[in-house]
Amino acid sequence: MERADRCLMATSPTYLDHNASAPLLPEARDAIVATLALTGNPSSVHGHGRALRAVIDKARTSVAKLAGATREQVVFTGSATEAITQAIVGGAKALGVGGIVVSAGDHTAALKAAEATGLPVTTVGLDRDGQIEVDEIAAAMQRADILGHRLLVAVHLVNNETGVIQPVDRIEVLVGASPHYLFVDAVQAFGKLDLEFQSRAPDMMAVSAHKIGGPAGIGALLVKGHADEVRLIPGGGQETGRRGGTEAAALIAGFGTAAEIFPERLHAAGVDALIGMAETGLRRMAPDMVIFGEHAPRIGNVGNFAVPGLKNAVAMMGLDLKGISISSGSACSSGKVGPSHVLKAMGVPAELGDCALRLSVGWNSTEADIAAFLDGFGEVLQRHRERRNNRAA
Ligand code: PLP
Repeated sequence: MERADRCLMATSPTYLDHNASAPLLPEARDAIVATLALTGNPSSVHGHGRALRAVIDKARTSVAKLAGATREQVVFTGSATEAITQAIVGGAKALGVGGIVVSAGDHTAALKAAEATGLPVTTVGLDRDGQIEVDEIAAAMQRADILGHRLLVAVHLVNNETGVIQPVDRIEVLVGASPHYLFVDAVQAFGKLDLEFQSRAPDMMAVSAHKIGGPAGIGALLVKGHADEVRLIPGGGQETGRRGGTEAAALIAGFGTAAEIFPERLHAAGVDALIGMAETGLRRMAPDMVIFGEHAPRIGNVGNFAVPGLKNAVAMMGLDLKGISISSGSACSSGKVGPSHVLKAMGVPAELGDCALRLSVGWNSTEADIAAFLDGFGEVLQRHRERRNNRAA
């Protein structure tokens, strides 16, 4: 069989990896296609330019509304990774901070950006349930107060691997009442929890289109007025000087449409019940299964679990052959299954971490998807037990 044919066979009819990237909503695709038919540069003052500017303005309103932000606070970027880098690298410079605080469970985009500032970085831990150790942030702030410098505290609201909802409300009380700055990576919370950016303490937040049924390659940094000088790409002055480069109007249009309809679609899919169904089914098959973050508040669309002894690479391969796509955690750019820095920070032993699988559902997920997954996983588990018994015999 040709390699291409084998790849086609593996094309998944059951997609359970929405946290890596949600399928594009048909309405978002239509908005992208309609905008691609337009000609010109949104910065041009003529009619063609104005038509594109109107598309961007409409999308800005929709993204701002979903984020509880004002239109002026939305800066479109090329991805959430870029927005995070702008907040941390650009923020470190523009806000004149003396150090960065990140959490050990932050996305690699934030961890690498903190490193790239060249400033001292304090990494605060996660507890066994995957929640940020808020006391460690308080201690870092106290040390900075003694040294007389300001910190940029960068945390995430919902963990992409475990779905654990972080105690950002407590962090907001702590940082909001201090001279330090707060950045929140809200990528996995956007469209699922109310961000209320305008009325809450964070100075900056990052969101992404492709986690809410919009296209990949477009994100946004939400910025309060006092942090308006935070820049990464000054360029040609687009986004009121806050992000240079001709705006990707078609992607922005898709983002705006997704922001308008995603929450309702997600709600209609009943994702909490689907994850509940999956976890109940798994526990029935494997009572020794571990659910990471089980005792912390979790977002309803994701479950991260391990059956001790069943390696995630083996399980994923077995499921992939049946056309079922799930993940071991965060999508890795190399395509390899690597150890999870999040589970490690939670104190999960490496051997158990190697068995971790993440199931994430979304706007087009159904009970049939979960049933197919449970069937497929049952077979994988059965083969694993047979192999183990043969080895023991
Ligand atoms: N932050 C979190 C929590 C994420 O889950 C992701 C994507 O996996 C990102 C940031 C990066 O988003 P983007 O793919 O838009 O760069």
